[in-house]
Amino acid sequence: MANSSPDLSPLDNVRVVLVNTAHPGNIGGAARALKNMGLSQLYLVAPREFPAANAIWRASSAADLLDSAVVVDTLEEAVADCGLVVGTSARERRIPWPLLTPRECGARTVAEAQSHPVALVFGREDRGLTNEELQVCNYHVHIPSNPDYSSLNLATAVQVLAYEVRVAALEAGRGGELSYADWDRPPAKASDMELYYEHLQQALGELGFIDPDNPRQTMTRLRRLFSRVRPDDMELGILRGMLTAIQNHIHRTGGKGRPDD
Ligand code: SAH
Repeated sequence: MANSSPDLSPLDNVRVVLVNTAHPGNIGGAARALKNMGLSQLYLVAPREFPAANAIWRASSAADLLDSAVVVDTLEEAVADCGLVVGTSARERRIPWPLLTPRECGARTVAEAQSHPVALVFGREDRGLTNEELQVCNYHVHIPSNPDYSSLNLATAVQVLAYEVRVAALEAGRGGELSYADWDRPPAKASDMELYYEHLQQALGELGFIDPDNPRQTMTRLRRLFSRVRPDDMELGILRGMLTAIQNHIHRTGGKGRPDD
């Protein structure tokens, strides 16, 4: 159908990541959902059965997306080069994370995909994403389903978000407010954020601020803080430098506070 040809190229920078999918039919269904909406990047984290005839059958004419799917062992690998990572969840978690509606997710995804890869992450059929996996994400999206029966079929959930991304791409030409194009630095990549959290935990342990044997709650809250802030690559470099300076100071003073204490 002819229209005023909106720029749909950001869709090439959007990847859908399926974590530990049990049923290959859902992988095929997701591939079809993506291709229907003009998306093409499918990442599979340790799928239980893949390649599989059932996946090809459900994908129908989107089997090419299965051929080009990237299979990796961990979520961290799947999102390593992404500047924005969005996790999906059928239920609320104990420590609430910054939330987007599916519509906001579409708009933000398209705005950011103009400058860096964006990942939309989906969980297992039986138990979704783990808390650790959700904590890799900058935002969570919940499809506002019936609270008495909130969990959609995996491929259906992919379809809903892929549709929102497409609608946002079709509308993007009308000047949205969200854009990284105006920022002087790219956002820190997910892999660099993970290195930062390791460094932070190590430094805070050396400082005696957290119990190295039980850092969980504090680290979760710090992850949420930095997820919200979304430092750019240079800001993250400054934070790493500060941690190194703190560690050097601790090592110089033997971890006992100020040298003249
Ligand atoms: N029983 C699981 C649901 C898994 S459904 C649980 O309680 O978490 C499989 C995947 O589909 C989820 O991990 C999520 O990625 C997606 N999904 C299903 N329903 C959703 C909803 N209402 N909002 C957002 N994502 C949803």
